[in-house]
Amino acid sequence: MFKSQSTKSAEKFKPENSTDVSDRTKQDGKVKAVALLSGGLDSQLAVRMMKEQGIEVEAVAIKTPFCDFDCGKGCGHKVLEVATDLNINIKTVYLGKEYLTMLKNPKHGYGSGMNPCIDCRMMMYEQAKKHMEKIGASFVITGEVLHQRPMSQNSNALSIIEKGTEMEGKILRPLSAKLLTPTTPETKGLVDRSRLGSIRGRSRRAQLDLATKYGIVDPPNAAGGCLLTDPQFSKRVRDLFKFVISEPSLNDMDLLKIGRHFRINPNSKLVVGRNHAENEMLLSYCEDLDYLIQPVSVPGPVSILRFHTRPDMRKDKKLLHLAITITLRYSDTVHGKLYEVHVMQKKKNWKKLISSQRCDNNEVDIFRI
Ligand code: SF4
Repeated sequence: MFKSQSTKSAEKFKPENSTDVSDRTKQDGKVKAVALLSGGLDSQLAVRMMKEQGIEVEAVAIKTPFCDFDCGKGCGHKVLEVATDLNINIKTVYLGKEYLTMLKNPKHGYGSGMNPCIDCRMMMYEQAKKHMEKIGASFVITGEVLHQRPMSQNSNALSIIEKGTEMEGKILRPLSAKLLTPTTPETKGLVDRSRLGSIRGRSRRAQLDLATKYGIVDPPNAAGGCLLTDPQFSKRVRDLFKFVISEPSLNDMDLLKIGRHFRINPNSKLVVGRNHAENEMLLSYCEDLDYLIQPVSVPGPVSILRFHTRPDMRKDKKLLHLAITITLRYSDTVHGKLYEVHVMQKKKNWKKLISSQRCDNNEVDIFRI
């Protein structure tokens, strides 16, 4: 049996000045819990299991620069809908800059990609804990399923996350609770452990059965994980952390999500749009000191040439020329012919028409991230 925390330690956990959960029940007759809610199936099942036991639930939904609410890829837009269906209040929290600071140097390392799952979950738990204290709830529930995710849902990781957030005994995972050491709300009799689940692993069979039981029509597909688990995206993040000595901005991170990326040299990077939508986004992400490159005489992409640290490099004509030839490689061009492009820099209100040729395919590959 998996032990995320011993019963003894759960019993011991009682912060100074805190109200005992059973005392709280006596005070207002209600047991409250905070749920970490995503738009996915598991967390909504956890909420339904609690509501079925008469627990009052409020939700916290977390968004990071890489993931729309919790781990549910693409299901973020659904979270408000799910909260409405569940008839519960929801608080949404955006972890931006502080998330990037953690991502650069996560205490507990990365998973298979650049996913710092343990530190990430800790940040999410911290938010749930804050809300729990604010509304006078007694514990937090999550839709976590034991051994569903290799990095953050194994016994050791769950225990680290609980200890690190000082939430030992206060995190109830209704779907797998019977496989876990009883939490404080269970030992205090606020939650009936016999009615909790014993789901383990990656199969979704048991969750789909529960969805049927609760009458959930069209249950959401399994979450695909956040962008940080994607190998190609992780490569871009690694590159950015390697070459941007100071902290990358949220704009730097947004830029990683679109276009083709080229590491021109340690100080500069080129991003070339792949379609109309990305070209539009590049126009909006372009910062004052970036060079914006746009072919004029032929259809072609928008590119951004960004410099990380050394402003003097902006005067390097060879560098700019290389960026133009790569941009023309992805334009409607043929070898050996000259094409005109506009190069602009917002800050100086500077715009120049430059003629150049496209580069060879193999030249492009040298720089591709
Ligand atoms: S996959 Fe890991 S890093 Fe990404 S949101 Fe989930 S816990 Fe966080």
